[in-house]
Amino acid sequence: MGKDLGRIEQSPADDRTYRALELENGLQVLLIHDPTTDKASAAMSVGVGSLHDGDVEGLAHFCEHMLFLGTEKYPDEQAYSKYLNQNGGHSNAYTDMDHTCYFFSVLPGFLEGALDRFAQFFISPLFTDSATAREMQAVDSENNKNLQNDAWRLHQIHCASAKPGHPLGRFRCGSLKTLLGRSLARREGGRGGGREGGREGGGEERGRKRP
Ligand SMILES: [Zn+2]
Repeated sequence: MGKDLGRIEQSPADDRTYRALELENGLQVLLIHDPTTDKASAAMSVGVGSLHDGDVEGLAHFCEHMLFLGTEKYPDEQAYSKYLNQNGGHSNAYTDMDHTCYFFSVLPGFLEGALDRFAQFFISPLFTDSATAREMQAVDSENNKNLQNDAWRLHQIHCASAKPGHPLGRFRCGSLKTLLGRSLARREGGRGGGREGGREGGGEERGRKRP
C-alpha cells in the first residue's frame, strides 16, 4: 500500500490511531482512526498557492474553484456535491499563500465513493469552457464581496506593505480583470483588494453555499 513513514508522536490524552504512509506515487498520507466519530473525512493539501500565481493574479484561487466542476470519470458538475449532500456530507476548500487545501466529510459508509470522486479532482479535472467562464465570474463576485469586508481589506493592506516585487504584494483573490489578462487590468487601472483563505478572516464560500 505504501512505505510506512514511522510512528506519529501523539499526546497521551489522544486515543486515536495514526499511520503515516508514502504512496508509490510519492503522495504522503496521514491516516487517522477514531471509532467514536460519526463522520469520515479526507483532506488534500496541494503545495501550490497564490504565491505561485505567476503572471495571472488569482490563478491558484481560480483553479481551486475549477476542480469541483467535473472530472473525466464524473463529468457531471454536480456529481461530487450531490453525492455528499445525499450522504450526510459537506465540503469546502481554501487557497492560501503556499498551499491549496480541499476537504470533505461524509457518513462513514460512503467514504470510498466520496474519496473516488474527490481523487479525480487531482487526476483528470475537465476545465470545460462553460465552467471556466462561469467561475471567472464567481471569482470576480467573491472579490466584490471581499471589498466590503474589513478583514480582507486589512489583509490587502498588509500585502501592499511588502517589499516591492515580492510575491506577497500581489493580489491573491483574482477578478475578471486579472484572470482575463494583465493588459486589461493595467489599462483599466488599479488592483482590487482581497484574499483567499479561511483562517485569517472570512474564508472560502463554496460547497453548499455555491450558487
Ligand atoms: Zn473562492
